[in-house]
Amino acid sequence: MGSPRFSALETIIERSPHENGVLKNSLPNIASYFGCNTFSDESMAKYLSRDTYDLLKDAIREGKNLNRTLADEVATGMQKWAQDKGATHYAHWFQPLTGRTAEKHDSFFTITPDGSVLEEFSGSSLAQQEPDGSSFPGGGLRSTFEARGYTAWDPSSPAFILEIGEGKTLCIPTIFVTYGGEALDYKLPLLKSEEYLTKAAFDVCQLFESNANLKKVNVTLGWEQEYFLVDEALFYARPDLMLTGRTLIGKNSPKGQQLDDHYFGLIPDRVYAFMRDLEKECHKLGIPVRTRHNEVGPGQYELAPMFEEVNVAIDHNQLLMDLMDRVAARHQLRVLLHEKPFEGVNGSGKHNNWSLSTNTGKNLLSPGTSPGKSLEFLSFFVTTIRAVHEYADILRASVASASNDHRLGANEAPPAIVSVFIGEFLTKVLNDIAEEKLSDEDGVKDIMELLAKIPELKKDNTDRNRTSPFAFTGNKFEIRMVGSRQNCAATMTIMNTIAGHQLVDFYGRVNDLLEKDIPKETAILKVIKEYIIESKAVLFEGDGYSEEWRLEAERRGLPNLAKTPEALHSYTTEKSKNLFSESGVMTNRELKAHYEVMIENYILQLQIESRTLGEIVINHILPAAIKYQSDVLTNMEKLKGLGFEVQKAQTELVNDISENVSKIYDLVHEMTTVRRKANELDKAEDIANEYCYKVAPLMEDIRVHTDRLEYLVADKDWPMVKYRELMFMK
Ligand code: ADP
Ligand code: MG
Repeated sequence: MGSPRFSALETIIERSPHENGVLKNSLPNIASYFGCNTFSDESMAKYLSRDTYDLLKDAIREGKNLNRTLADEVATGMQKWAQDKGATHYAHWFQPLTGRTAEKHDSFFTITPDGSVLEEFSGSSLAQQEPDGSSFPGGGLRSTFEARGYTAWDPSSPAFILEIGEGKTLCIPTIFVTYGGEALDYKLPLLKSEEYLTKAAFDVCQLFESNANLKKVNVTLGWEQEYFLVDEALFYARPDLMLTGRTLIGKNSPKGQQLDDHYFGLIPDRVYAFMRDLEKECHKLGIPVRTRHNEVGPGQYELAPMFEEVNVAIDHNQLLMDLMDRVAARHQLRVLLHEKPFEGVNGSGKHNNWSLSTNTGKNLLSPGTSPGKSLEFLSFFVTTIRAVHEYADILRASVASASNDHRLGANEAPPAIVSVFIGEFLTKVLNDIAEEKLSDEDGVKDIMELLAKIPELKKDNTDRNRTSPFAFTGNKFEIRMVGSRQNCAATMTIMNTIAGHQLVDFYGRVNDLLEKDIPKETAILKVIKEYIIESKAVLFEGDGYSEEWRLEAERRGLPNLAKTPEALHSYTTEKSKNLFSESGVMTNRELKAHYEVMIENYILQLQIESRTLGEIVINHILPAAIKYQSDVLTNMEKLKGLGFEVQKAQTELVNDISENVSKIYDLVHEMTTVRRKANELDKAEDIANEYCYKVAPLMEDIRVHTDRLEYLVADKDWPMVKYRELMFMK
């Protein structure tokens, strides 16, 4: 048997596209199967009585609890539907703080005390389950004597059927809480933040006559998911990819992304087959994916759906990530969701397009065509900017992770400094308002005239600034800091909370002015003006990567939280605690628990990386280098034996290898010592800091020397799959 690297390379030459994704003669009509595996409105109407259906829809719309009888009726209908579709089991599907999803399968099948066999699913099984999740991270919320977690049905997100091989399981989206109802997941805080924001937005809408008949405001999210694909055999031949999701070592390929020829380029057949297959699976589950294309990095792709209500959009993104793994396996590919699988090549993010819309279909962040609509737009627009200015630090904390640290603040899109890009036209509008005197009628008139021109901005915003972490793109804000493998809910929860908090403040300030008999338009404009002045520092149109911006941001007093430990610290401040408790999104205990889980995840990720690197280097890299060095030495012996002079090349090769081998050996020892000491510290913060500022830099140093060895050692003797193979061979 050859080395794992060469066996893998031989294997993949034989590969061809999987039949699931190969185009048959006629294109399937998506409408004929879209959502067929979800308990959609259509299935509900078919499997529930008219009354039950109406009551359920009302309860969902108004976020009310269902009574026992109704839950039983829904459960019976849902079970019938699922069984007609071939499901044998059901599972509560939830989103623990590990970042992925979890499910515990139970059979419909039960045996009654008298011994008869029943297929049963009651309202209480639908509504609640005890998945015994004592091994999910809970950040100290669960004391050991009550280690259980409970899941509870979220009726606002449709139940669905997951097909795993031949098996079919009815999955019920749920929240995951302690016995006392404290959040152990991402979904509960998200739902609370959504409620908080939509209520605050509803109140602000009441300031505008056009909203007299408004019933509800919704938060919308359209995510864009970036990912890499590598061949399965190559993936398994790289222990670092397998264990950590990224390459801990590996010299850059001479051709990387310089030519930009991958972006929107031709999609390879096997990848194309994977994409088709994945899209079909998504469509069956009602995930409205629409666009697909190559991304900047070789082997990097992107997938985006149409936007949806935020809770459903997040469930769909979580589901998508699971589907990606399953579908890729069928195509003998592996999806890399890591934020930076390859050094020197663009990382992967998840752009979160966020907006607010009304039940009447109006986008509150869309400028509209009348000055009245524009004033409403401006209220929501400026409030959001003010919120980001005020809470940039926790927004940054929401995307903090060991893997995302390789993107944010590491010469890569976007920077760790949170700033807002709004385009030239809106910058001018805001500047004009900030300078206008609003004490007289003329000032207000001037601004209203200016607002009449806002619709022109659409054109302006087509020219986007790709370096901005937070950009206004015409009718929504695009948050680009979110990592590719993260649960969008963390950031969306913060976004909703800070925007809601600011809208409450906005409404309060406007009402204070109204009570002083200031005309409404003037009052609104005055608060907008205050907000613009208060939050000006966060607006930035220039190059987010430049050193000048770093210095400028520092002068402006904007936080630059480059690494996870600093960023996560933002969750622990009094300001954050007050924000979350005032809004009712998280209690202080929940916030603390959330923080502890995040910091623990950070430590564990780096610990696994550091151990993996040590092993790879000692077990694979050094032996290969030493073996090659012996070959060169043998050659030198032979030359000498035959009376030839030993050449400079051989001598230098031997020396160069020796130097790097020794350095690596020492550095691995040093890293292990530092790591052991770090692990013995008491406080998680201190351990995290040691990993961040001591262990991680040592890993970088080790990499420099191993990459040098990769350059020196003969290709046939190099044990690790190379960058060019990982990125280009499919
Ligand atoms: P592009 O960025 O190519 O111009 P779009 O503006 O149509 O394309 O949308 C980009 C992303 O923004 C898509 O994922 C889409 O779902 C999302 N999006 C569009 N409108 C909204 C909205 N009102 N709320 C949330 N997301 C949106
Ligand atoms: Mg985008």
